[in-house]
Amino acid sequence: MTTNAQSEDGILAINGGSSSLKFALFLAGDSLPRVLTGKFERIGLPEGTLSVANLATGKKAQRAMPAGNHAGCVKPLWELLSAEATVSVRAISHRIVHGGARLREPRLVTPEVIAELRRIKEFAPLHLPVQVELLEEFARHYPGVPQVACFDTAFHRDMPRVAKLLPIPRRYDQQGVQRYGFHGLSYSFLMAELERVAGIEAARGRVILAHLGNGASMAAVRGGRGIDTTMAFTPAAGLVMSTRPGDLDPALPAYFARTEGMTPEQFNQMVNTQSGLLGISELSPDIRDLLAREQEDVRAAEAVEAFCYSARKWIGALAAALNGLDTLVFSAGIGENATVIRARICAGLEFLGIELDVSANAANAPVISKPGGKVTVRVMRTDEELCLAQAAKQLLPLAETMGTA
Ligand code: ADP
Repeated sequence: MTTNAQSEDGILAINGGSSSLKFALFLAGDSLPRVLTGKFERIGLPEGTLSVANLATGKKAQRAMPAGNHAGCVKPLWELLSAEATVSVRAISHRIVHGGARLREPRLVTPEVIAELRRIKEFAPLHLPVQVELLEEFARHYPGVPQVACFDTAFHRDMPRVAKLLPIPRRYDQQGVQRYGFHGLSYSFLMAELERVAGIEAARGRVILAHLGNGASMAAVRGGRGIDTTMAFTPAAGLVMSTRPGDLDPALPAYFARTEGMTPEQFNQMVNTQSGLLGISELSPDIRDLLAREQEDVRAAEAVEAFCYSARKWIGALAAALNGLDTLVFSAGIGENATVIRARICAGLEFLGIELDVSANAANAPVISKPGGKVTVRVMRTDEELCLAQAAKQLLPLAETMGTA
């Protein structure tokens, strides 16, 4: 990006999903104000779009942008930032889905980090190669600008061994086939926020964080440390999600192979894109659509019920892992907005000390439990992009000493 005398230092956060790429530009100052946000959607399809909001001017725009793949978004983004912003990109911070056993905290992107991501690419074959390509494409457009990789698995790195161990032959554990857990950027952000709004005692207590979006997971945190989580070696495990089933009978692939000749690839496709809310309802992966149709369509009603039931069971399981519960946090698209889903998840959890205040819940208030209850139930907005920018800001001095690009 071109620099000029007035330009301020900025940090660019990049959050790539399976067919989208979100970005946010922050000023590198103390409070990391956000100046621009946007996203590429429907990547790989002819009807791809780019939408941008300039938070300084209030200007919003959307246009057609048929990017062939994620790396194909970098040049239009570079052009956009060069033309629009009075900010010079000084660091780029990426959300990376999997860090495996070795990449355990945010890292400056070096040839060694890239080599490790390539080595573990089978851990997330749809995402890691795409993310490596993105890192390389950004390096071409922003030569000399340090890049930071933040791993969604890192939050869970200190889980006790018993939570990490998958009960399959031991040799796989030695190959790194373990429970890693995901949504770690969101969880890091939420824990810092919990400490800010509720104090250190609450943040050191027994906490369940429920990140309920299209991808959904929960983390059990005690003494500030993640001790268990619902997702496992891949993000398909745990809770019922928009298109993923969560935990399943492990003998199902063999059953479908016998009865339908289903291949491992087809099974994988099914559990990543055709299951969960979409699979049960045959209507939509989106909980709003299903809530709108649950009165007239039993499939929609069953999908919503399966989602809430799964979440309720997991809260019970994680509360057991924590030896009780002090704080429950709802976050992400469903957790932050879907009043009725929060209420249905919590109905029946009174035995754990979870009791919602109906009007606080209806208002999406920051605290939605009854005053004086045993468990404080909170609604907190998560911000993965800010978490990315914070990590890059911390690593910038190191990048300067290393002269890393
Ligand atoms: P992603 O995992 O793709 O980032 P989000 O965190 O955006 O997903 O969550 C998407 C889910 O949140 C969808 O099921 C959507 O219906 C739900 N959602 C978003 N806004 C609302 C709302 N106002 N009321 C109910 N559900 C909502």
